[in-house]
Amino acid sequence: MGCGFPGPVRATGGGGVDPTILPGWRDVRPVERLEAVFGTAAAVGNDANLGALSESTWGAGRGCSELAYVKVATGIGAGLVLRGEPFGGYAGTAGEIGHVSLDPGGRRCRCGSRGCLEVLAGGQALLARSGRASVREVVHAALAGDEASAAAIGRTGSWLGVALGGLANLLNPQRLVIGGEVAATGELLLGPLRAALAGSVLGSAAAGLDVVAGELGERAEVMGAVALALRLARPVLP
Ligand SMILES: [Zn+2]
Repeated sequence: MGCGFPGPVRATGGGGVDPTILPGWRDVRPVERLEAVFGTAAAVGNDANLGALSESTWGAGRGCSELAYVKVATGIGAGLVLRGEPFGGYAGTAGEIGHVSLDPGGRRCRCGSRGCLEVLAGGQALLARSGRASVREVVHAALAGDEASAAAIGRTGSWLGVALGGLANLLNPQRLVIGGEVAATGELLLGPLRAALAGSVLGSAAAGLDVVAGELGERAEVMGAVALALRLARPVLP
């Protein structure tokens, strides 16, 4: 069984979920709980990491050894594939690009920092700029031609481009795969994202860097949980 969480998941100690982002999961050990309830081996992962795993296995990241998948929804997170393998960092929480602070004097984020990418470009910013009630509604209105919604999506794309320029300078990925429900707006998001990225990335890191929409859409994270379960069931033999 594979299971995803929209927040940092520690790789050790039963796969605990970071209570800063998901306070309802404090002191819960999801791997132990799932195994006890369902009687089968379980693995858990962060949703963006699962998106990276599925897009690199079956989707827009096939054949890429260095890849970042960015989930753009109410929250913003990235999953990294380096040298062909998912990269979780020391404790399994790498890729939290939504909580990179781009404006230290900005609004307080739910993580405790100020001016995080998620504050500037995430779901709450989309609702405030568009006047809509849900991220899904902003996406549908933007696709239907509503100017305020399209402009809000564009602002999200611009802020993402700035942050992803930093990521590209650090890691020199070959491809950035943009997923999450906001990615359904296609070029309304990706156009401003590419323009801002071009202004914030070193030429050497930009060379050969693709920015593409995910191919697996809303199924990316759940298919990543399937990929995680398959890895658990059929470990790679030496
Ligand atoms: Zn934050």
